[in-house]
Amino acid sequence: MSASAKAVVGFLVGRPLVAIALAAAVVGIMLLFTHRQKTPVTHRVQHVGLTDAQQMQLGTQEYAKVLRANGARIVSSGPQYAEVQRVARRIEAVASRDKPGFVWRVTLIKKNEANAYCLPGGKIVVYTGILPVTDNDAGLATVLGHEVAHATAEHVAERIERNHLTKVAAAIIAGGVAVTPQQFVRVTALLGVGSSLPFSRSQESEADHIGLIYMARANYDPHEAVAFWKRMQRASRGQQPPEFLSDHPSDAHRVSRVEGWLPEAEREYGPHT
Ligand SMILES: [Zn+2]
Repeated sequence: MSASAKAVVGFLVGRPLVAIALAAAVVGIMLLFTHRQKTPVTHRVQHVGLTDAQQMQLGTQEYAKVLRANGARIVSSGPQYAEVQRVARRIEAVASRDKPGFVWRVTLIKKNEANAYCLPGGKIVVYTGILPVTDNDAGLATVLGHEVAHATAEHVAERIERNHLTKVAAAIIAGGVAVTPQQFVRVTALLGVGSSLPFSRSQESEADHIGLIYMARANYDPHEAVAFWKRMQRASRGQQPPEFLSDHPSDAHRVSRVEGWLPEAEREYGPHT
């Protein structure tokens, strides 16, 4: 111990009340900071109450339910299965740099609906109905980048915190003790399974931004994201807009916003990454 450190310890030993006050301040600051963190890529300060491990448990519980409900429709071979696994592996490898604790897994479900989602903690579901719109690996990387970004930016946990449901979610994770059916429904609605609208517009835009950077880091040409979002817009002009679009509200500015992030994405794209 250095002389100055000894002097500090000597000062505190002589003044126990000061030492207690200092310790309380340190604990207070630590509690404060457990709820304040920054999103990857966009570096936005956010408030999240659930830990990574709790988010993983919440996502895994819901994922098990989805797999049980869709057992017969799970695709586990063939070219579409291979494509989803191939693209997901590259996007997951990039997302893992931001969330090393998450355990990633992707399941393809035979469903004629243009949708995909990623549960908290890294469990991804893709419907076969989106593959005609993604068209190629880079298009699928756009979708997976976007969905995975919702998980690494902890958008569900953030909304749970904003809705003052963190304690309820923690109880569900711990086994559902003292949770009413209404509370349970409120938390699971925020998970975004099916066609609910769990995210805010700003979170959707943030997922577009982070997802674009992720696909570039995974070495997919980010310009393909612009082509994909244009295809999605065209698909939505038909009589039956794809579910993916109603989950992810498209507006006239979406493509131009994505184009605005292209220079940043281009710097991440290429053999150097
Ligand atoms: Zn989204």
